[in-house]
Amino acid sequence: MADFLRTVDRRKILHVDLDAFYAQIEMRDHPQLRHKALIISRDPAQSGGRGVVATANYLARRLGVHSAMSAAEAKRLAPDAIFWPADFTKYKAVSQQIHDIFYQFTPKVEPVAFDEAYLDISHYATSGATIAAQIRHEILKTTHLTSSVGVSHNKLLAKLGSNYNKPNGVTVINHSNMLEFIDALPIDKFRGVGQKTKEKLIQLDIHDGRQLRQLSQEMLRAQFGKFGEHLYLQARGMNFSEVKWQRQRQSVGKETTFDRFLHTEAQVQNAFGQLADKMIISLRQQKVVGRTLNIKIRDADFNTLTRSLTHHEPWVLDQQVLVREALNIFDKNLSMPFSIRLLGISMSNLRSSTFEEVSLF
Ligand SMILES: [Mg+2]
Repeated sequence: MADFLRTVDRRKILHVDLDAFYAQIEMRDHPQLRHKALIISRDPAQSGGRGVVATANYLARRLGVHSAMSAAEAKRLAPDAIFWPADFTKYKAVSQQIHDIFYQFTPKVEPVAFDEAYLDISHYATSGATIAAQIRHEILKTTHLTSSVGVSHNKLLAKLGSNYNKPNGVTVINHSNMLEFIDALPIDKFRGVGQKTKEKLIQLDIHDGRQLRQLSQEMLRAQFGKFGEHLYLQARGMNFSEVKWQRQRQSVGKETTFDRFLHTEAQVQNAFGQLADKMIISLRQQKVVGRTLNIKIRDADFNTLTRSLTHHEPWVLDQQVLVREALNIFDKNLSMPFSIRLLGISMSNLRSSTFEEVSLF
């Protein structure tokens, strides 16, 4: 147990988070928005009061506006703010640039959202603070956007750290300053503490981390059930969860050797359809998408043809689209009569699809 603790405590974990991501992108692209309170949402005046705030810049946040708030409420708090419609196609492309940068530093990336990820950089001899500076510099150079990073030996402290020094900051939390950091942390900054828990803690006269740490495990469990356990650990800066990354596979796909050679277009189309279905299932199971579609065709004489189609964006996992592309390649290269022994279809240039599935509203 002691050895295990020493090992997990020596990890180097970063939590990287872009600052007011959508708002920052629009301010970058539209200079007239830069010095105004900006709310990424449909204007409630034009949408009949409907709509939800996707994010707001820091000027709007100072007026009390925050994401997931109704646009109507945001308008009451910030009547002079600019409402700007979200452009998720653009945000997704920027998100891809940012995640590509993460993978330049380590394969151990756990995407959390469009603009947010945990990185395990334990294998670096360089300090976490230095790597954090390099990543922030690379993001700024590539996207002209600022980010905040928390550096620590676990995910909890890294996340608390990135949140602490926003925007455009780095917070390093190590074993020597960890308790000091937690002591000063207001109770609602701890993970999972919502309005209800906050009220209950304040009733117990608990306002910050220092006071939280004075509560016994039994007391916390009696008051908050299983979540009390989490609070007990958080108050001590303890967290053992791993950065959940996926070993980047080279490709995901299927190929089939046929017992009887295929001689008709219909047979080929049918076979590609089945292969594409299987590949889509595998890609979904592994939570990856790919930018390159690879097609393999082998005839009765073992002549083998491979062709690849690379897109700027990952392929949409639509069986009909993939089969159409495969048949195109087939038709361009083979003419009747043919005898096909093997067909294959695979996807490479893979990336995690987790952050692409983050629900936006
Ligand atoms: Mg963010």
